[in-house]
Amino acid sequence: MARIIFRNANVFDGVDPIGKADVVVEGDRITQVGPSRAEPRRSDDVVYEVAGKTLMPGMTAGHGHLSFHDLTLPRIMDVDMRHPAAYMGVLAARNAQRTLEAGFTTYVGAGSVHNLDVVLRNLIADGVAQGPRIVACGRDFAPTGHALDYKPEHWNVQPLTPAGTLGALCDGPDEFRKEVRREAKRGVDMIKLYPEGGHGLPKRTVRLSEAEIATVVETAQLCGLRVRCHAYSKPVIKLCLAAGVAIIDHGDHLDEELAELFVKYGTYVLPSLYLAKMTAGIYHTQKDCDGWFAYARKSLKMGIEAGVKFVTGDDFGLLELPHGDNARELAVYVEDLGLPAPAVLRWATSHGAAMAAIPDLGRIAPGQLADLVVVDGDPLERIAVLGEPDRIALVMKGGSIAKSMISAVAHATVEPFQLPAGSRPRR
Ligand SMILES: [Zn+2]
Repeated sequence: MARIIFRNANVFDGVDPIGKADVVVEGDRITQVGPSRAEPRRSDDVVYEVAGKTLMPGMTAGHGHLSFHDLTLPRIMDVDMRHPAAYMGVLAARNAQRTLEAGFTTYVGAGSVHNLDVVLRNLIADGVAQGPRIVACGRDFAPTGHALDYKPEHWNVQPLTPAGTLGALCDGPDEFRKEVRREAKRGVDMIKLYPEGGHGLPKRTVRLSEAEIATVVETAQLCGLRVRCHAYSKPVIKLCLAAGVAIIDHGDHLDEELAELFVKYGTYVLPSLYLAKMTAGIYHTQKDCDGWFAYARKSLKMGIEAGVKFVTGDDFGLLELPHGDNARELAVYVEDLGLPAPAVLRWATSHGAAMAAIPDLGRIAPGQLADLVVVDGDPLERIAVLGEPDRIALVMKGGSIAKSMISAVAHATVEPFQLPAGSRPRR
């Protein structure tokens, strides 16, 4: 089997920068990571000379909506009704490809319409469509009257309609139990629950009861699914954690007590503050955004030091957050909030892969899946380089090259095996 070798790379291994190394890929796996020229090369090796470039694990988009496209919040009412499912599916496939080409080889869904996360996950796994590995999510679970119960009463739309709708609007544990099982039948991996509003939604809204949250989590676990919760406030986050929620989206009111609980429960937390920056002056004021950032500057720093497992991911699919811009989120944490770049790179690589629960992913080490990105620059020096498409020089997923702007060295120029000093080549 021909090997692919990245030579002289500056390696960020998903946890730390490890300096200059050669990384060898065979099949879908990384087989060696070591000093450059550690061994003789074979004539059929495919060699990429990447001196001066960074090699890092493929990133994880931990929150997103591949089936949304150019969405504005006032138009979310009919996001599931404007186009037939097939039209949305073609758009979603293109969004998946853009995400992959931006260096994101894993995607953890946070809500989709027409069951498109599941459809895409299967098309990509079958090799029909190009895109990241997908952890599929379906409808948004919320109660009647919640901010996500968008459709006006006079439209006369039945709340518990099929998979195409945005919201699974349920009331009481029995309805939630039934709908979670319906989602399991449709093949999702993840349930998205909205126990409250806030973070882009009105704070004053219908909230879920403790019994409803617990029922969703218990039923999901019985179906082999995990639950992620849109939650910002301390009391609601505590209810979610007690019930066994795996992922908290946003967690805006992070404090020391919550950080301790997140660490204790092993909860993944996605601050998702790119949305706040990109929609300042549209859905909220710049002053609001400045206030949130002032709080996050301290609370996220504290959370990192406490050991909270933060992950990157935001509402890509909104008009202001187009698919493929995913890496621009990282710059918010480093440049706007002053957090350390290695920590934020961990959020996007090793933390994200662990949250996706895909074994052997998110690190550059022998035995790991070969999901790799070659960056023309050093994201530890200037993290914004990750958001510049021309700087994402190569993307590999599972040993296959999904995007490449650099050429492999031709076989003829591969240097011959160096014989030990004093020996003579045989004729
Ligand atoms: Zn979202």
